[in-house]
Amino acid sequence: MPTDSTFLLAALFLLLAAAGWAMGRFEERDEEDAPPPLNIDYLKGLNFLLNEQTDQALEHFLKMVRVDDKTIETHFALGSLFRRRGEVDRAIRIHQNIIARPDLAAEQRDQGLFSLAKDYLAAGLLDRAESVFTRLADGSRYQVQALELLCGIYEQEREWEKAIDAGQRLEVLGGKSLALQIAHYYCELAEAAASAGDFAAARQYVKNAQAGRPRTMRGALTRAHIARDTEDNKTALRLYHRIIDENTYLIAEALPEIVAIYSRENQVAELEEALQALLAKHPDRASLVAYTAIVNDIGGIPVIDECVERYMLDEPTLGEFVDLQQLNENAGDDGESAFIKVRRALSKLAARTPRYQCQECGFSSQRLLWQCPSCRDWETQRPASRVQFDTVLQHSITN
Ligand SMILES: [Zn+2]
Repeated sequence: MPTDSTFLLAALFLLLAAAGWAMGRFEERDEEDAPPPLNIDYLKGLNFLLNEQTDQALEHFLKMVRVDDKTIETHFALGSLFRRRGEVDRAIRIHQNIIARPDLAAEQRDQGLFSLAKDYLAAGLLDRAESVFTRLADGSRYQVQALELLCGIYEQEREWEKAIDAGQRLEVLGGKSLALQIAHYYCELAEAAASAGDFAAARQYVKNAQAGRPRTMRGALTRAHIARDTEDNKTALRLYHRIIDENTYLIAEALPEIVAIYSRENQVAELEEALQALLAKHPDRASLVAYTAIVNDIGGIPVIDECVERYMLDEPTLGEFVDLQQLNENAGDDGESAFIKVRRALSKLAARTPRYQCQECGFSSQRLLWQCPSCRDWETQRPASRVQFDTVLQHSITN
């Protein structure tokens, strides 16, 4: 079966024939009146196409149609077509052929290099792409685009220092603000330093993150984790409380930490008081508190248990399966209420369903990911606030 590329090249060869190249119209001829010679490369190229040898046909096309002011746009168009179709090797061959011309104008060389670097990126050849983009980022009309793509490469390679540098250069150039990304790059460095035990460096990185974006919640969460790991419970609690007070989406991360610290210190009464105050201020967060408690199997704290009971009674899908109120009244002799049994079952179900979902692309995961692995956006995940029964059922059916 002839491939689409064969048709593509065949169309180009036909266009060339129409334009007169094949008849050697653009070749220099001594005798103006002599009939134009038939271009032998044209025939060879056609022969390769007829035999479905696309690469050889492409080589002959490149040999036959020199890169010059008249043809360069055709070469670029062909290269980007091949890249878009996923035929990256062919795109690379075309763009390398363009930049190999010694008499190329500087602007066209930069365009060729930019296209070639994008081919490398598409092929996953990150080192080569990085090297060409770095050259273009040092001064060309592709400076801003090259820096943006470099940031993406450094994110993939987890080269956070380089990502910060590229991001800061972009901001100087007046591109879009990268304060959010740069704050995350610093937080990545802070987390790495903290896990290596260098807490002083970790704190400094968090400060740098917060200098560019003072209210970054990841900065506060990272700083709180550092305080927890260095047994500075007072600072840790202050920060974790600030996090659950200021936003909803990190409750699932901060609440288990708060519970762990108070329980370790035997201060359950203080915990009770703090959570009562939180729920009095934000009554709408009760279901998130309940869901977090279910997922993390947190029980035995009256204010949290109340939220969980209410959550279970209000859960419409659960209500279709069991009448909790009725069950509880007919509790068996084992001393366990129906609430506790159902709650334990819910914990198991919740552990098998995604807890976070990207608001941009829908990618879901069990743990919080600051950068979505699918759409590569930062801070787009939000926690689920309900056990996703449909996902559980789907899971059970397909497994
Ligand atoms: Zn996403």
